[in-house]
Amino acid sequence: MGKKQGTSTSVRDALRVRPGGGIPHEPRDTPVGPKSKAQAAEGLAETGAELGRLQEALWVEGTFGGGDRSVLLVLQGMDTSGKGGTIEHVFGLLNPQGVRIASFKKPTPAEKRHDFLWRIRKQVPTAGLIGVFDRSHYEDVLVVRVDELVPPAQWEPRFDQINEFEAELAEAGTTVVKCFLNISADEQRERLLARLETPEKQWKHNPGDLDVRAKWTDYEQAYADVLDRCSTEDAPWYAIPADRKWYRNWSIARILLETLRDLDPQLPAPDYDVAAELKRLKENDPLLAGEAG
Ligand code: AMP
Ligand code: MG
Repeated sequence: MGKKQGTSTSVRDALRVRPGGGIPHEPRDTPVGPKSKAQAAEGLAETGAELGRLQEALWVEGTFGGGDRSVLLVLQGMDTSGKGGTIEHVFGLLNPQGVRIASFKKPTPAEKRHDFLWRIRKQVPTAGLIGVFDRSHYEDVLVVRVDELVPPAQWEPRFDQINEFEAELAEAGTTVVKCFLNISADEQRERLLARLETPEKQWKHNPGDLDVRAKWTDYEQAYADVLDRCSTEDAPWYAIPADRKWYRNWSIARILLETLRDLDPQLPAPDYDVAAELKRLKENDPLLAGEAG
């Protein structure tokens, strides 16, 4: 292997969406890091090992150490953009005990009776956890807007409501990281074809997905507004080039790694006398007492 894979360049800096700046790359670009699938696999394994250690520390800090910090990763993207694949490949590297995954579908009648953030608040990760949202409150300014499920006067104020909500989360100790999985229309076509032509993948298809695809440009506009209006200091959006699955997995893992490194979670110091416990076990093991005699 040649050059070290972009580990010195911050992936967050390279992929972050800046208000007014649009999406900083194309779906097939690889702006930082690995240039091939093999390099990405190597990088992901390395990242996974460190990510695993940091995640455990976060979990211990929040569960036993009295910490109140957590992380929330929001995944949004068009059908086939790889939300499920990201969960499988990136979260597969972590201890499931410390991860909570929530998928948001069409709201149920009960959910519809409440404010759009009601079902979301219930799934916010508690101390020590890394929460993953497979779709999220952003659907309420995406599909809801494109399909005109409510009038503009109702969805328009939601950008500000979302920013306030995410600022509250940050204030309460939840670091919010949002990834837009940016695939091209051509790549979506290939993936939809693959779904329909592969019996083991056919369950993923929903005939409505082709109707959503037909509204591609409406969704482009809706996503552009989401990225422009809701990429804040408290809760930035990252646009992930997602036509190549290996780049998508690698970059999201790196963004999580950089986030956890910043949090620098700490294992709590033991609240007992370690030396005394060791002495007890070595010199006075209750189970060995009989034999030693
Ligand atoms: P999937 O992620 O493929 O399981 O599909 C979930 C479906 O639920 C997608 O078509 C979403 O657009 C839809 N959905 C999620 N949240 C909402 C919402 N708040 N209002 C309407 N539809 C939604
Ligand atoms: Mg689907």
